[in-house]
Amino acid sequence: MDCEICHGTRWKSVMVDGVERLTRCDCWRSVVTVKNLADARIPPKFARAELTTYKPDTDSQRDALRLAKRFVESFPVEQKGLVFHGPTGVGKTHLAIGLLKAVIRDKGARGYFFQTTELLRLVRETYNRSVDETEMEILRPVLEADVLVLDDLGVEKTSEWVQETLGLVINTRYNARRATIVTSNLRDPIDNTDMNSFMVQLGGRSRSRLLEMCEWVEVQGADIRDVDRITNAAKTGQMPETPDLKTKKGLPGKSGGMARARLKDSSVQYELNWSGGKAGNK
Ligand SMILES: [Zn+2]
Repeated sequence: MDCEICHGTRWKSVMVDGVERLTRCDCWRSVVTVKNLADARIPPKFARAELTTYKPDTDSQRDALRLAKRFVESFPVEQKGLVFHGPTGVGKTHLAIGLLKAVIRDKGARGYFFQTTELLRLVRETYNRSVDETEMEILRPVLEADVLVLDDLGVEKTSEWVQETLGLVINTRYNARRATIVTSNLRDPIDNTDMNSFMVQLGGRSRSRLLEMCEWVEVQGADIRDVDRITNAAKTGQMPETPDLKTKKGLPGKSGGMARARLKDSSVQYELNWSGGKAGNK
């Protein structure tokens, strides 16, 4: 489609103090935005995922949505990223993609979505002689994007190589103050021997970096028992029973607020020097 002002050159002339100058045409921004959105690697099944189509059910989901919107509004002044962690099916990926699209569209950011397993597979493939791309060619956009979404961090079976590769990504982005958005099913318990914890899967340094460079929010879905209780109450016209604090009967799951308070308490200082190890050693 040709622009009526610039006829497709993407430049237009303007008069500045009586001198004709060339400047980017108004159509240029939208062309770049469309290209950046198309390049962002957003999976087709999330084509309709937007912040405006995210429907929160719980307080922690409302909290997560609010933080995602705030991120878009304050970008690029605020470079602190977000870690959405919690069980499957609460919409963490939807939120991350909605945020990514909004920041590309509204702020002209360059951003990429990577499923963590897929990223590691792409890097691993470059060690194969028949693949022409180098490790750095795969990693460069990941390291340099204004906004990176690392989806489902911790699903990959951990190893020294996995920790080093993800460590390189996290640490480089940390040093360059680039915003990283993480979704994960991992937990962050005080007891760090939990096999499904950030500590065990990522290692202390990367976890520590993520605590510094991102705001963490634990996203919880509606407890199915709560939904039943509310549905039954609606049917019978009765209000749900008041939660009993002694037996904890009727209490919903942990809220995001509580989880964050707990994270602050447990954010032990780990050794912060990065060994600078190459991610290329298998
Ligand atoms: Zn134009």
